[in-house]
Amino acid sequence: MKPIIVVLFLVFLPSAFGHVQNYFPGAPLEIIKIGHPTLTMIAEEVPHAEIQTPKFQKFIDDLAKTMKKAGGVGIAAPQVNRSQRMFIIKPSFFKGPEAIINPVVEYLSEAGKKSSSEGCLSIPGKTFKVDRYKEIKINYYDRKGEFKAEHAKGFRAIVMQHEYDHLNGIMISDFFTKSLNTSDLIQEVAIAPLM
Ligand code: ZN
Repeated sequence: MKPIIVVLFLVFLPSAFGHVQNYFPGAPLEIIKIGHPTLTMIAEEVPHAEIQTPKFQKFIDDLAKTMKKAGGVGIAAPQVNRSQRMFIIKPSFFKGPEAIINPVVEYLSEAGKKSSSEGCLSIPGKTFKVDRYKEIKINYYDRKGEFKAEHAKGFRAIVMQHEYDHLNGIMISDFFTKSLNTSDLIQEVAIAPLM
């Protein structure tokens, strides 16, 4: 390769990938970053008939693998530029990743809130402290298309709230500027699980 081509390659490669993607080697999907319009959109429901198709099942697996490669405990479909109401969580070391499809969350305010330090795979290098509800009720479909009604608590409920926000175009950085009842920014913090 001629030097001029090498120079152009080195100049344009970071600019081509820097603003849009957050690439993890070996990950099947690329994670989009803050500033990408898909991250601000209200995602579309997944048609129930689509859930068990091989194509959608592969997407679930690819999203879970991407989350694992990126070191996350959760990831939402919009974070890979797919505006659908689906996310993956893996809040426990002992359980495999779970697909949560078309979730509807009810925040249980009577159980109170707690402060949560969170990172976001779409906001590289930054973490935020937000208030989350300690308990939620969540209705959703699993990857088999089976309806689930769950009362979630603890870290599992926190990861679900973070990912559910992504389906509604909300990111943890938004709590700087918006007043929302789902959580409020308190301060930036140093280390946090990635979601
Ligand atoms: Zn996130």
